[in-house]
Amino acid sequence: MTKAKSSFQPAAVAIPRHSSVVIASSFVIRVSSLLLLWVATSFAALYAADNLGILGSKPKWNVLEKYQRTITHDEFAHLLNDVYCTHGIPDDLIKIDNESAQIVTDRAAQKTFTLQFVPGENSKLQIPRLWRPAKSLPPAKTSKPLAGLRIALDPGHLGGKWAKMEERWFQVGDSKPVTEGDLTLRVSRMLALRLRKLGATVLFVRNNTDPVTPKRPSDFKELARRILIQNGVPRPRDEVLNPKDPEKEGTIKFQSEILFYRYSEIRRRAVLVNTKLHPDLVVCLHFNAEGWGDPASPTLIDENHLHLLVNGSYLQDELAFDDERFELIRRLLSRAYDEELPIADTVAISMAKATGLPPYQYPTTQTTTKVGTSGYVYARNLLATRLYRCPVVYCEPYVMNSQDAFARIQAGDYEGVKEINGVQRKSIFREYADAVSDGLREYYSKARGL
Ligand SMILES: [Zn+2]
Repeated sequence: MTKAKSSFQPAAVAIPRHSSVVIASSFVIRVSSLLLLWVATSFAALYAADNLGILGSKPKWNVLEKYQRTITHDEFAHLLNDVYCTHGIPDDLIKIDNESAQIVTDRAAQKTFTLQFVPGENSKLQIPRLWRPAKSLPPAKTSKPLAGLRIALDPGHLGGKWAKMEERWFQVGDSKPVTEGDLTLRVSRMLALRLRKLGATVLFVRNNTDPVTPKRPSDFKELARRILIQNGVPRPRDEVLNPKDPEKEGTIKFQSEILFYRYSEIRRRAVLVNTKLHPDLVVCLHFNAEGWGDPASPTLIDENHLHLLVNGSYLQDELAFDDERFELIRRLLSRAYDEELPIADTVAISMAKATGLPPYQYPTTQTTTKVGTSGYVYARNLLATRLYRCPVVYCEPYVMNSQDAFARIQAGDYEGVKEINGVQRKSIFREYADAVSDGLREYYSKARGL
């Protein structure tokens, strides 16, 4: 298991003793993890005046004015306690009384934003938001349960020539290299065909292997250097001389690359989603993995599993960032959770049936919270699930370096079934696309009364 890849076992992420892991890479992308608390804090120190997450922007708290008296006390308290702040809230950053919530906007100046609750048990007021829940869509035919719906597909990562840099690349002997960003794009294109047949307007957050962000690692060299110095690497090296170098995470090259392909890239995707695509739902497509060690001689394992993610389960140190706290409150008030959770549960059941995979169990409850009824869905504060301002369902099926998934990926796409490791299987790509499509069809058919 390469610790840097094991976001699924964050406890295993080792911080080298002398160099500093500043931003460790992980399969599931989150802004700051518990282990990196000290890093995040130090990073924040660079921007002490702003107190923002990595490449974050200053929140505009006044946009929350439009949510005044649109939520009841009980609904707000439930979403806060059971979904978003399941690990507690530090230092009274968010306080609730019967009539209102006080949310700290500036800790140093002790400034707060006050959100008034609507009295009564159920808020019947129109909730300000750009996306439409299934129930508010116009009537549709039974054969087109997704008619009128705008779905954006977000194939995780970049793939192509970027896959090695992203550490989403491994190769067994002379076989075809496995690159997550190419697999997710392939599934997205197949899924798009299926969803369009069901009546949806399908938009791509990425439809080739190029980054959405116009920035490149070289744009972040100075920032990477400052982060490293701040974290106790007084004279950071520029180049990684050996990719297996255990101290590579202390180099400007490594850190500037992560700032590019993760933080800058996902933040640009969010700008695209929020200002151009305006979807009613984003489906993020990923393939999971367990640490594979040396990418040129990876470890194949028996374990294979499935899970889906929705936004929530913020860590206390994440809540301390002004932008993350603001984004949480805005998301909560939009009630994205009320829509994304049942979609995730329905898609999860469909995917479980199609793949036969067991639910992934996070080895620790410190970063995630199990939600919903399917047993496959977790709340977690990832960049994409937080920043895309609409319901987001984030799929993590198949461990790419499991014996089974690896053999199926190598078999490529084909019609019908083929025997793989003694079992008749559909192509892994079609199975993935069919299962997500079936789940969405089921959810929207039911929600729209078709
Ligand atoms: Zn991924």
